[in-house]
Amino acid sequence: MTNYAFAPPPVPSVAIAGTDARFPVRRIFCVGRNYAAHAREMGGDPNREPPFFFMKPADAVVDSGKTVRYPPETENYHHEIELVVAIGKGGANIAPEQALDHVFGYGVGLDMTRRDLQDAAKATRRPWDWSKGFDQSAPVAPLHTVAEVGHPQSGRIWVAVDGAIRQDSDIDQLIWPVADVIAFASRSMELQPGDLFMTGTPEGVGAVKRGEVMTGGIAGLGEIRIAVE
Ligand code: MN
Repeated sequence: MTNYAFAPPPVPSVAIAGTDARFPVRRIFCVGRNYAAHAREMGGDPNREPPFFFMKPADAVVDSGKTVRYPPETENYHHEIELVVAIGKGGANIAPEQALDHVFGYGVGLDMTRRDLQDAAKATRRPWDWSKGFDQSAPVAPLHTVAEVGHPQSGRIWVAVDGAIRQDSDIDQLIWPVADVIAFASRSMELQPGDLFMTGTPEGVGAVKRGEVMTGGIAGLGEIRIAVE
């Protein structure tokens, strides 16, 4: 047994619908600009780019139903509603045809973003970490297993702030579908059980303020509710 100098941190985890078991989180991979209309609203060209990735720390996850603190150092704190893919079987250089065999389940997540810091990072060619990987930046609703829901290819994805719809699209609008996202990522990193993917957000990203409540969902995968204090 390793003699740690102090107690190691708890394993971050995400709820699994219908069970007390939890999904232990290893890493969070996020896909940038994976819906054409959102790529355009961010000033990109949705037709040219292969998927690109950024990461959040595993302990950025927050359960649905919780209240998150409005993060420091921002005045433009944005919601990005996303399809979350949970990896149950690892692998490198995974072929797209086999990629879905590596999926444990699916869920609804929020890629919370300090947009002002991201804009500054882009302008100064600096990393995105501070804009994307801050504390509590990855709320995730309970996962639904492949045994329960299969591999959803379509379904409404939406988020509202205090009941007003902000983002409203369909996961069939993903530029790079889940199988391709897994295949691309596994060329660069050996995937491991416990990895999560946030697969990108549709158009309509916007700011959320202290005291507001975000509710969102994906048809067939349940809903997420996060309050901001
Ligand atoms: Mn995102």
